[in-house]
Amino acid sequence: MNQVPRTFRLAAVSIVATSAFAFNAHAATISRLTPPSELFASGNTDPVIARFLPGQLFDLQVTVQPDTGKTIANFAFYVDGLPVTDRNNAAVAARVSIVGENGPTDTCVDESGMTTGQSGCTLVAGLPSNTVVISQRAYSKGSPGVHELKFMARQSDGTLISAKGNFEIVGIERNAGGVAKNIIIFLGDGMGAAHRTAGRIMAKGYAQGKAKGLLTMDTFPYTGMVMTASLNSIVTDSAPGMQNYVTGNKANNNQEGVFPDDTLDAFDNPRVEYLSEYLHNLQGKALGVVTTADVFDATPASMAVHTSARGNGTGIVDQFLDDRELTGLSVLMGGGRKWFLPNASDSVSPQPANGSQRRTANDYVLPGDVVAGWGASPGAIDPDRDLIGDFQQAGFRYAPDKTALDAAFARGAPDKLLGLFAYSNMNVAYDKIAGRRGDGTVVDAFGFPDQPMLDEMTDKALQVLAKNRNGFVALIEGASIDKQAHLMDSDRWPLEVIEFDRAIAVGKAFAESHPDTLVIVTADHECSGAAIIGASTASAADLEANPASGPAVVGTYDAAKFPKYTIADDGYPMTTNIDHRMLIGYGANADRYETWLPSTFPTKDTQQPFPPAESPESALVRNANIGFLITGQVPGDQAVHTATDIPLSAFGRGGSLFHGVFDNTEVFFKAGQAAIGGAQ
Ligand SMILES: [Zn+2]
Repeated sequence: MNQVPRTFRLAAVSIVATSAFAFNAHAATISRLTPPSELFASGNTDPVIARFLPGQLFDLQVTVQPDTGKTIANFAFYVDGLPVTDRNNAAVAARVSIVGENGPTDTCVDESGMTTGQSGCTLVAGLPSNTVVISQRAYSKGSPGVHELKFMARQSDGTLISAKGNFEIVGIERNAGGVAKNIIIFLGDGMGAAHRTAGRIMAKGYAQGKAKGLLTMDTFPYTGMVMTASLNSIVTDSAPGMQNYVTGNKANNNQEGVFPDDTLDAFDNPRVEYLSEYLHNLQGKALGVVTTADVFDATPASMAVHTSARGNGTGIVDQFLDDRELTGLSVLMGGGRKWFLPNASDSVSPQPANGSQRRTANDYVLPGDVVAGWGASPGAIDPDRDLIGDFQQAGFRYAPDKTALDAAFARGAPDKLLGLFAYSNMNVAYDKIAGRRGDGTVVDAFGFPDQPMLDEMTDKALQVLAKNRNGFVALIEGASIDKQAHLMDSDRWPLEVIEFDRAIAVGKAFAESHPDTLVIVTADHECSGAAIIGASTASAADLEANPASGPAVVGTYDAAKFPKYTIADDGYPMTTNIDHRMLIGYGANADRYETWLPSTFPTKDTQQPFPPAESPESALVRNANIGFLITGQVPGDQAVHTATDIPLSAFGRGGSLFHGVFDNTEVFFKAGQAAIGGAQ
């Protein structure tokens, strides 16, 4: 075990408090201690919830409810019995934020009287009015093992209040196998085992019970099963689903790179350092983020952005650029241009003609202690910001479409790259491929006929990232496996799996020519409870003649036989509308009308500023007058995520660390081991 040294770490302390006047008699309590622990929650020392790599930054925070009419006079955090503040923080004066009770005239001010926040500095509802939230920002510890965290405060009447928790520093072994200089995480959003199988059946087919070929992800030598729960639920959403992999810690649903807190500000939560930030600081690695979604979406943001509200698009995309010195961001590609275009009037309705959805309501300003502790950019409320221009000023080459993306590489790879190929989520493979084959009905209706495929984006991203001599961390996300599974579109999500696998082939080839590369293929969670229930006993023509035929045409067991798709030269099925097609059922479904036939238009994507009128409103409306009603078990009109474990496959340097059944947070420690201590 070797301790990894860490330098240049400063921290700052803050207090957020409501004004101190009493309403009900109340006995002093500490209602939250961060990082989360079972020792604090239940008194048990096991399991340890919060775990960090040596030197990884995280915030300490406590919510204290003093006795009625009392205030907190002084306080300190202790780790293993030693006070934290002075030892870590000699160079930075404590910053104290005080806020009045809820009300629009209140402002957050730090001890020098500067206003630090625009909105939401107040505490969540229901806490006594003299409650305080005290933060120790950007703490880190080097020595491996379980450590005790204690908080002690003295009330204004002299009463002592205290609470105890624990956390673990996970050591790194020095191994002889060499370090993983590059880490590529392929994240198939919502991709469970069934999604992988469906993609394989469609792309490769069967001969007498044997698969005629493997997906690239199937060829990886190491496979494990991952438990995907978030901090507050067995069923995660995409924010903790991703951030748990790259922080080593659990977040609540909707939260990215933070622990939960008791303040309303979505950008002041206790932070935990990302793999990208940690390895950029330690080794100078670059970060690349590539997705078929809007780049503000939960999965890409959970590589680099700290917020408790995944919907804060303006602040999220701003933070990608503003904190590039912390993360090493060099490549950002996907959809989401609507967040980058200036909204001069801050208008939501009517929709600005340029498609902008930047607005004050979801922009960000950081409190002073976060800025001081983490060296983060303070942010600004600037809906009129020209963020594409600011990226270009920062040295990023900008590509608005595939033609421009190719042109950006005409004289070699640029140093930094921004690609924004749609207003919001990019069109899915099913529709992009139709456009390339001459049927631009859908991509033209969305207004973006020239979008790259994910394998093309991956190739360009890796060319840029490979220029960094210190290596890189990359996320490549196949985002709409999830989005189309939510919509129960059984034609569109299998093609998303195929598109994703073609990108994985690019990553695998890169790792073969750069053997100091670790490649992981995984998912953040399963989506929809998808299952391959068999195949149609009817021809495509018969289904079109009888679109409400429903279960009568579902061939189960031997009646399913082996559906045969023909793959075109572009790598995708000539059509999904074959005779005796594969049929999908959904175990986590809302009501829908099913025809077993493809829909010309994708079902409505509410993120689009200008959704085409032809898109059906939902899977319930889609085919409502012609299909067969399948009733579901969940409310709403979409299928939902499930708690089912998902498969992970690994290849390359350090890949052998990934086997067995493990928690999603373990991926962070395995990747850190590979990058710092090396493979066995
Ligand atoms: Zn997801």
